Amino acid sequence: MEQHECIIIGSGPAGYTAAIYAARADLKPVMYMGLQPGGQLTTTTEVDNFPGYANGVDGNAMMEDLKNQAERFDTQIRFGLVTKTELSKEVGGWHTLTIDETTQVQAKTVIISTGASAKYLGLPAEEKFMGFGVSACAVCDGFFFKGQEVVVVGAGDTAAEEATYLAKLCPKVTMLIRRGEMRASKAMQNRVFATKNIEVLWNTETVDLVGNDKGLTGVLVKNNQTDEEKEIPATGFFVAIGHNPNTDIFKGQIDMDETGYIITKHDSTATNYPGVFCSGDAQDKIFRQAVTAAGTGCMAALESERYLAALED
Ligand code: NDP
Repeated sequence: MEQHECIIIGSGPAGYTAAIYAARADLKPVMYMGLQPGGQLTTTTEVDNFPGYANGVDGNAMMEDLKNQAERFDTQIRFGLVTKTELSKEVGGWHTLTIDETTQVQAKTVIISTGASAKYLGLPAEEKFMGFGVSACAVCDGFFFKGQEVVVVGAGDTAAEEATYLAKLCPKVTMLIRRGEMRASKAMQNRVFATKNIEVLWNTETVDLVGNDKGLTGVLVKNNQTDEEKEIPATGFFVAIGHNPNTDIFKGQIDMDETGYIITKHDSTATNYPGVFCSGDAQDKIFRQAVTAAGTGCMAALESERYLAALED
């Protein structure tokens, strides 16, 4: 069976940053890219907030840059999905990963960078306008809607945060709440209610998205108490109904919270298994930014290096 010092699972900003650091530390990392090579940023049109790109960058182009940088330092980047893990509880033990349900490989350190996937409503129109009005990240895409009217769907802390963020850029933000109350914390709700250009529509669901070949023009909504339908003019539709961390393969082994986010030690990316580290959105439900994911990817690689060095001592 192939054995490596370091295997990185996932190819978003966290995984590639981990790869760059691990490769420069001569850990000869092997990366399995997973189902969505490049991760969530490959579904964004432009990334304007990653430091170093003065004029912004296309999400796919940025991930290609990160891939090239990781390869420059001899990371082996492989297609393949990790479908099973047998992690060792022993310090210095081999962790066994099954790739595509067939091949097995082992590593002394594993960096989990499997990310998270935004939840969408499941309307066919979401797919149609993805990147042309539909977004799941206001901090990433809000700027492109400056001066325009937008809609936010969701009633949790993320939705409240996205709506207040967008309200600084947009003349009008409409929040669609499917029940008669919000799930968000009281403090976040108060912030929403105190923001004059946010209109909250209670008991309101999205029926369809309306637009043309240039993008979104409106959102068709329905009050689920009265069945009344209306179209809200909007060029942006921000879906903020939660994320699913891509951590199913670690269930029953690695400690996670009740929603599946991996729990890491304070000030560290260490999990409850020696030599297994976690970076990026798989362990972060609060910030979820490419730059924070990259930061924790760096931490995971440095901690892998220290762990391996300590084994040799
Ligand atoms: P949540 O799961 O808390 O909320 C999801 C929201 O989306 C709910 O209000 C839910 O409505 C709504 N929703 C779900 N499905 C649909 C649908 N099909 N149509 C319409 N609405 C729908 O997710 P969040 O991302 O907001 O938060 C995740 C976690 O992260 C929470 O623990 C939150 O507190 C935390 N967080 C903390 C932040 C902070 O501290 N600054 C910032 C962001 C998140 P309903 O209420 O009716 O079920």
